[in-house]
Amino acid sequence: MSIDTLPPLREVIAAHDLSARKSLGQNFLLDLNLTAKIARQAGDLKGFDVLEIGPGPGGLTRGLLAEGARHVLAIEKDPRCLPALTEIAEANPGRLTVMTGDALQIDPLQHLTPPIRVAANLPYNIGTELLVRWLTPDTWPPFWQSLTLMFQREVAERIVASPGSKAYGRLALLAQWRSDPRIVMNLPPEAFSPPPKVSSAVVHLNALPLPRYPAQPRLLERTVAMAFNQRRKMLRAALKGLAPDIEDRLIASGIKPTDRAETVGLEQFCALARTLEP
Ligand code: SAM
Repeated sequence: MSIDTLPPLREVIAAHDLSARKSLGQNFLLDLNLTAKIARQAGDLKGFDVLEIGPGPGGLTRGLLAEGARHVLAIEKDPRCLPALTEIAEANPGRLTVMTGDALQIDPLQHLTPPIRVAANLPYNIGTELLVRWLTPDTWPPFWQSLTLMFQREVAERIVASPGSKAYGRLALLAQWRSDPRIVMNLPPEAFSPPPKVSSAVVHLNALPLPRYPAQPRLLERTVAMAFNQRRKMLRAALKGLAPDIEDRLIASGIKPTDRAETVGLEQFCALARTLEP
């Protein structure tokens, strides 16, 4: 059976009784033209292993396989989706492995062979946590070459935001430090079944060969988290807990102690994180 002979997703959902569960962030994409388009945003998939989180009934999975992924590893928490995903695996012998469980608890690396791309219509409740994990490993480059991820539009805007904008903060800094995030698609709520309350967007990030500026990931993460936790305060106050001589460190990093976090760029935050290295 080839992928083209698989039934439409509405039939798959009805046949396996996959009524969407809000607690699992289930907003399914049922239009296979749309899932193919998202899969194409991931770049050339031929010769790549692809990690997919939350395949659900498998619309995006089918797109990733049709676009030529060498192998897809799909991690799905909801065991009700397994029969639908098994049908896709049988139609693509040896190219789809499905693991049932929580993507936050499973280490996928032993099942993946580089080069690796990540593509997912993520459950919104774990999207930012996974993104931050993928961006902040101790060593760089990471296991992935690119991430192509669906987020709520507002979160996507935070990932690509520039200094001075309301959306600028920890996510923008961590993403832009080690990758080149771009919004590549916008999707209205009606693209999903059931439609969520908000619009969505697909963000594509290529891993840079080296971070833009040197810094230790834990220290940079801690610095920006603290700076934006109280984003309206001057940095000398917001970062008081970071070091007793924070004013000197801010000045040494090219930051005015009276500046607020949202006006400070990536280069300065990396310089500040470097002053905290033991
Ligand atoms: N990829 C499918 C699509 O585009 O139609 C489904 C997307 S839906 C937004 C999110 C999927 O992630 C659901 O199938 C849900 O069961 C699954 N999920 C939720 N939490 C998860 C977790 N912690 N680990 C793995 N999958 C999870």
